[in-house]
Amino acid sequence: MRNRMFELCTGTFVASVALMPLAFRASAENHVDNDAKYALYETYGNDDLGVNLTPSGDAILKMWAPTAEKVTLRIYDEARGGTPVIEIPMTKGDGGTWSALLSPAPMGKYYTYSVYTDGKWLQETPGIWAKAVGVNGSRGAIIDLKDTNPDGWETDKGPAIKNVNDAVIYEVHHRDFSMHPSSGIVNKGKFLAMTENGTKSPKEDATGIDHLKELGVTHVHILPSYDFNSVDESQLPSNQYNWGYDPQNYNAPEGSYSTNPANPGTRITEMKQMIKALHDAGIGVVMDVVYNHTAQNDDSNFSLTVPGYFYRHRPDGTYSDASGCGNETASERKMMGDFIVNSVKHWAKEYHIDGFRFDLMAIHDTETMNRVATELKAINPDIFIYGEGWTAGDSPLPPERRALKENVSKMNGIAVFSDDIRDAIKGHYSDAADRGFATGKPGLEETVKIGIVASTAHPQVDYAKGNNSKFAYASAPTQIINYVSCHDDLTLTDKLRKSMPDATDAERKRAAKLAQTIVFTSQGTPFLFAGEEIFRDKKGVHNSYKSPDSINAIDWNLKGLNKDQFSYYKELIALRKAHPAFRMTTADDVARHIRFDKSEPNLISYSLVDHANGDEWKEIKVIFNGRDTDTETKIPKGDWLVICRDGEISHTGLKDANGKNMTVRGGKVTVPHRSALILAKEK
Ligand code: CA
Repeated sequence: MRNRMFELCTGTFVASVALMPLAFRASAENHVDNDAKYALYETYGNDDLGVNLTPSGDAILKMWAPTAEKVTLRIYDEARGGTPVIEIPMTKGDGGTWSALLSPAPMGKYYTYSVYTDGKWLQETPGIWAKAVGVNGSRGAIIDLKDTNPDGWETDKGPAIKNVNDAVIYEVHHRDFSMHPSSGIVNKGKFLAMTENGTKSPKEDATGIDHLKELGVTHVHILPSYDFNSVDESQLPSNQYNWGYDPQNYNAPEGSYSTNPANPGTRITEMKQMIKALHDAGIGVVMDVVYNHTAQNDDSNFSLTVPGYFYRHRPDGTYSDASGCGNETASERKMMGDFIVNSVKHWAKEYHIDGFRFDLMAIHDTETMNRVATELKAINPDIFIYGEGWTAGDSPLPPERRALKENVSKMNGIAVFSDDIRDAIKGHYSDAADRGFATGKPGLEETVKIGIVASTAHPQVDYAKGNNSKFAYASAPTQIINYVSCHDDLTLTDKLRKSMPDATDAERKRAAKLAQTIVFTSQGTPFLFAGEEIFRDKKGVHNSYKSPDSINAIDWNLKGLNKDQFSYYKELIALRKAHPAFRMTTADDVARHIRFDKSEPNLISYSLVDHANGDEWKEIKVIFNGRDTDTETKIPKGDWLVICRDGEISHTGLKDANGKNMTVRGGKVTVPHRSALILAKEK
């Protein structure tokens, strides 16, 4: 049952669930009933739940369980097994809390709570506020977080960015990044992998953090790195793989990514070391967070603390399941909303995390997401937040309250993934053979244009002709994340192999370059799945959430084999970073500075005009030819620098055989098949 749920849980989700008024009305009634019941629960407003160490050397453990009649605190020497060395009743306090004072603080020991409610004792749990846990996360650990800081942590800082669309995001799983023998990395599959400098593939290409620096990405987006359920941390030699969308302890790192899961401080220190190494390299860290569901239902830490409260239910009392994983959390309830807010604040403050990616964000309500944004930006105005603006199934939460992409204009400082541009460029995610604009399928031009203007209103974009969303849902381009692929579904390479079965890889690489050129020149924030810059594949496996390393690990030999691909991506990133025209911040600017020419099937042409967003270039002409034939088109007269042509790109302009700048004079130009042509007019 759970495996089936995970199959659903880890796939890509539909853009927006069709609204079902009748079903919705029925569930809404229950929603009201539950809310009425839960509204009577006492709530607690302070952020001191969990372990508090006092200056005098005591520990105060505090938890919220308003329906508990009794709570027992147990202290153990071991992270698992053994018998408690202390077992004491906790004292009921204000706001539904329970606390216990331990003097002196039992440093290095483990703890659990056990709640007595409704006539029975619930299983032991570390609660939901544990910031350090033992192996496999079944007990909390009493440690001083200050002892986990690496050298220089006090002055550690992520990169400053003015706007989210100045970022270039690189999505990576810890094991994918370093497990392959060709990585040359010592700490394979660990947080520490990203701290190793000077690592090389057998072909002498830079790997690891040096590769990231060479490529020029500004932010690494790490797949779930909080403590998750699926990997047995006591059996690490067995090389288990999981994406980690099965949260167990939200406020502690995953143990299998540390060199010693048995020491609760090690995973914390090593994750901080990773973050510091990236920060020292000028790279920010975005964390993938999954507050929308838990790995378990009745046995989750939420359920063992306050049964029912943290989840939504159907009229028959069963768990509603907008996550496709067996349950969904209830962010609209005060203590769940507070939990999310306090949890991201913990990661931002204690770990210096620079951004958050919310899984199935539309399961959360817009109000909570707005609180998340406000509170995070108060800690660091450069922190940014984005998420999947959809759910995986229907929810009792009314659609108008969901943090859907269609509601993004109600969420300040939050961005959503554009599945519009994703599927228009490469073809539909769920149909492997389906082609997109970049692979020669006509009729998707308007949807690509919706992507180019970052789903903002533009006089030359007809949303009625869009394939996906039918209105300009973003109020600013900073609200959109553009991508063609991510950890979900086929990698771009595999998608191209399945949808262009008769083509050569050389042809597919052209298509990949064109696809990413559309992403990286569009307004909004570009997002790249790790390894696509070296034409990485996953052997055709679309839902590789628990596939072995042989499927998931990036083979760094590909960097040597696909040098041309790598340098193209690198220059594409450099072009975007050098030219603010691709990074406009207001819908007005986008409407004013982008002029489209009339589209033809698989041909889109537009100009960024009048020094858009303060760009040094007066005009930039961008033409995409998704056809498998060369195409002639007309451009205005003038002196145009050639920036990108026929699968080659240089952010300072392509050079001819004599080392001179390549130029064209306007009039008729040829756009080679399946490629982008980018021209720049300096004045
Ligand atoms: Ca774990």
